[in-house]
Amino acid sequence: MRVTERLKAGCKVFSFEFYPPKTEQDAAKLFEAARELKKLAPDFVSVTNSSSGAMPYRTVALSGVLKAELGLEVVAHLTCVAHTRAEIKEICSRLKAMGIKNILALRGDIHNIGGLPPRREYSYAAQLTADLVKTGDFAVGGACYPEKHPEAPSFEEDIRHLKEKVAAGAEYLITQLFFDNAFYFRFLEKTAAAGIKVPVLPGLMPITGYKQMQNFTQMMKVSVPDGLRLGIERWDGDKDGMFKFSVEYASAQADELLKGGAPGLHLYTLNRSRAAIEILKNVKGEASRLPN
Ligand code: FAD
Repeated sequence: MRVTERLKAGCKVFSFEFYPPKTEQDAAKLFEAARELKKLAPDFVSVTNSSSGAMPYRTVALSGVLKAELGLEVVAHLTCVAHTRAEIKEICSRLKAMGIKNILALRGDIHNIGGLPPRREYSYAAQLTADLVKTGDFAVGGACYPEKHPEAPSFEEDIRHLKEKVAAGAEYLITQLFFDNAFYFRFLEKTAAAGIKVPVLPGLMPITGYKQMQNFTQMMKVSVPDGLRLGIERWDGDKDGMFKFSVEYASAQADELLKGGAPGLHLYTLNRSRAAIEILKNVKGEASRLPN
């Protein structure tokens, strides 16, 4: 099933993001989490892809296994900045052979690979999107940034390029994580004003530690509201208290987003299930009664 069909079906869409594990131990944890999360009947799960261009088949393989073994609908992330067109074609043919019908088309993070590669055939996700759409084999989604992409000189320019990505064929967007819903709702106003009409799935991540909060917010350049910062400081060192606070914070965020008209939720799981399960339990029953 293409993700866009689920989004058009009129019910809220719930999804989880995983990343390819590096060790056998991590793989065991991921499959345990995926099996637990499957019980919540997610509309899809997504699998991240390294921007370095190295080992793209880890994403292909994990996507194939999650689909074949667990019967999950998979959105494979595909980054383009370090790939040639021929490599992208090869990866796509393997995804197709695995029965994968959904791709999240991305430029890829360039900070963890030391900047833009000097010789490249793709500079932006919109170019990859256009190539993927031409194959006719995939429903293509894209990334977006409620607090603006960190490299964009202005919000206006970022939205202009986002519109190009949608015009190239991105049928839905998934947001960067954010902790203040006002950014999401303002972003929807800006995209609507720019004529972007595709669904925008909010991406949420339950924060489970002070260091984790610092790492993610610095890496992704997203703001931390005082309420979250104070709570994380208050519960730092108390695992159970932190977990409870974090789930409550993300559940309140999720509830407000769904009631405010968000088409669903995309949860960044970090390959763990407990917090995601609690959050969905808190909001999913209620959400099934809300219109899209
Ligand atoms: P683009 O849409 O290409 O935008 C990148 C920047 O270029 C923006 O500032 C944009 O305004 C600008 N731009 C776009 N077009 C033009 C143009 N024509 N001229 C000038 N400027 C332009 N990273 C990974 O490495 N692997 C993953 O699996 C991954 N998954 C992600 C999932 C989600 C939901 C999100 C939100 C991000 C993900 N990322 C991932 C991070 C992402 O790759 C980075 O944020 C990257 O810096 C931008 O990717 P993009 O696809 O949004 O790029």
